[in-house]
Amino acid sequence: MRPARAVIDLAALRQNYRLALELSDARALAVIKADAYGHGAVAVASALAKEADGFAVACIEEALELRAAGIRAPILLLEGFFGVDELPLIAEHDLWTVIHADWQLQAVERATLARPLQVWLKLDSGMHRVGFFPQDYAAAYRRLLASGKVSGIVKLTHFARADEPDSPATATQIATFRAATEGLPGPTSLRNSPATLGLPQAAGDWVRPGLMLYGVSPFATPQAAAERLQPVMTLTSRVIAVRELPAGEPVGYGARFVTAGPTRVGVVALGYADGYPRHAPNGTPVAIEGRPGQLIGRVSMDMLTVDLTDHPQAGVGSEVEFWGRQVSVADLAERCDTIPYQLLCNLKRVARSYRD
Ligand SMILES: *Cc1c(COP(=O)(O)O)cnc(C)c1O
Repeated sequence: MRPARAVIDLAALRQNYRLALELSDARALAVIKADAYGHGAVAVASALAKEADGFAVACIEEALELRAAGIRAPILLLEGFFGVDELPLIAEHDLWTVIHADWQLQAVERATLARPLQVWLKLDSGMHRVGFFPQDYAAAYRRLLASGKVSGIVKLTHFARADEPDSPATATQIATFRAATEGLPGPTSLRNSPATLGLPQAAGDWVRPGLMLYGVSPFATPQAAAERLQPVMTLTSRVIAVRELPAGEPVGYGARFVTAGPTRVGVVALGYADGYPRHAPNGTPVAIEGRPGQLIGRVSMDMLTVDLTDHPQAGVGSEVEFWGRQVSVADLAERCDTIPYQLLCNLKRVARSYRD
């Protein structure tokens, strides 16, 4: 079998969830959209089922997959429903829904539902993606209450720049949220991962940690609470061929790397079709049998090359880590001009296994 593997450490996942609870002193919805950021939504939800206050996903398809797998905890649809035909299913499967737009509010007002809905009413406090404008929020809230179709309303907003500790934008969003929701009863939810880790002043009744659950810091610079996260996914594969080249020889597509001196090149079974970034430059860190090493040459679809010159003990069959405890996926993302979210979500074809 092809040796590319992603091992998921479920004990580390639970530790990270507990850290979110500890830091927030609130209830926490574990955000497991996009197949739990590539970690496997059903496995992640099952591992957290005993302790999680609830889960959050992007759409009803993701929620129904969890219900079908026996997950009974609350599940929030972060973008609510995309069509009115989802409303009966939302009631039937006891899902929680965001309402972020007037058409959704009207649909709830007009719906005939088997039971009232638990709604998270979204405020656009400055990100300008979805949500009611501050001046429209209280009216939307009152219409929902008056509809008789809801069992509770959580007041919700989302931060655009909480991963930038020096940005004043988040304080402005918090102030906008407090002003727009003032006097409206019910619980609140403001914090995503960066805000859970770094913004106690954004206190609320619910936090919504995503990336931090997977043990990855959302910050570009070291941050005290983020130091306590434990990486959950370790992506590895193995060396499948070794060649010794003299100086001046090209390696791989486009001859992006040319040997400067005698070089031992290791070919590893992992490529961009597995989700490893094609834009990883020469010198990108990897770990070869537990020791620091480097990528050389362009990443191809199913293979890539590493420098084994300083790893004489390594050969065919040696394990290479691409991210995990030794190689930070956040660091890799930065070198590839992307974010760890995208690298994790892009993982595919690689065999996943779980450790507890
Ligand atoms: C994805 C998402 C989150 C989680 O964000 P992280 O940065 O991964 O913690 C929280 N809230 C909403 C509305 C989201 O869409």
